Amino acid sequence: MPGILYIVSTPIGNLEDITLRALRVLKEVDRIAAEDTRHTRKLLSHYDIRTPLTSYHDHNERTAAPALVESLRRGESIALVSDAGTPAISDPGYRLVVAAVAAGIQVTPVPGPSALVAALSAAALPTDRFVFEGFLPEKTKQRRERLRSLHDEGRTLVFYEAPHRLKESLNDIEAILGDRAIVIAREVSKVHEEFARGRIGEIINRLADREIRGEIVVIVEGFTGEPALSEELLKEDVRKLHASGMRVKEIAELLGGKYAFSKGQIYRITLELKKVSSR
Ligand code: SAM
Repeated sequence: MPGILYIVSTPIGNLEDITLRALRVLKEVDRIAAEDTRHTRKLLSHYDIRTPLTSYHDHNERTAAPALVESLRRGESIALVSDAGTPAISDPGYRLVVAAVAAGIQVTPVPGPSALVAALSAAALPTDRFVFEGFLPEKTKQRRERLRSLHDEGRTLVFYEAPHRLKESLNDIEAILGDRAIVIAREVSKVHEEFARGRIGEIINRLADREIRGEIVVIVEGFTGEPALSEELLKEDVRKLHASGMRVKEIAELLGGKYAFSKGQIYRITLELKKVSSR
């Protein structure tokens, strides 16, 4: 009989956030495949679990997945865990799940914490319909394009974000999506847990003098269907960005998704304003 592959959620901070079933499964399986074996060993030793560990991470999953599937075929039961939260959610696991399912192996989740659900549950933004976008692209151009593509999305938007990129991302979110309601959920379930709620501009000001640390989920109100912003507001934005030293092309790129004008139109409007201001 082939073994079972268990996808086990582990705490996202507070070590008490683990289910009784997760602890039992982690004790009973033949092997635990972990994203970082040293990290998982801390959790296991806290609960006195001595199951052997194998590493399964982004860099070895192409070779590790077939080997694990082979072990499952031979009858081993395996628990997959990531460093925190639910495996395969912005974490390694997807390839192993696909390979196991393709091999006819039973794959079963052991549900538990995930940062996106934990943050959303306490955010006070609509939870009936939401989109999880994972991490925004690191490169500015791709990040802005992604945000533009989300401009008309009416569902609540959920992102994971690295602390050193938060301020830059918030500036882009405000410029492209407009000054919407936002929640920054930081260090959820840990000692320094913090939920910052407000309009994006307000939160940007509040965080301006702070060094941002820790793990972060960003939750943004969906598009509420307000009419497209007027040309006057667009011109005001262009003037501000131009005065801050931004180049015409960059201004057109940045504001392209925010207004009901194409990048080309914004480019022309910016050039005209530039001419007027230099007369
Ligand atoms: N698989 C995990 C899950 O289910 O939540 C997510 C893994 S992803 C690589 C890590 C990101 O999740 C962090 O960069 C952060 O954005 C978010 N995250 C994880 N733990 C968090 C916490 N305690 N508070 C806020 N965000 C957290």
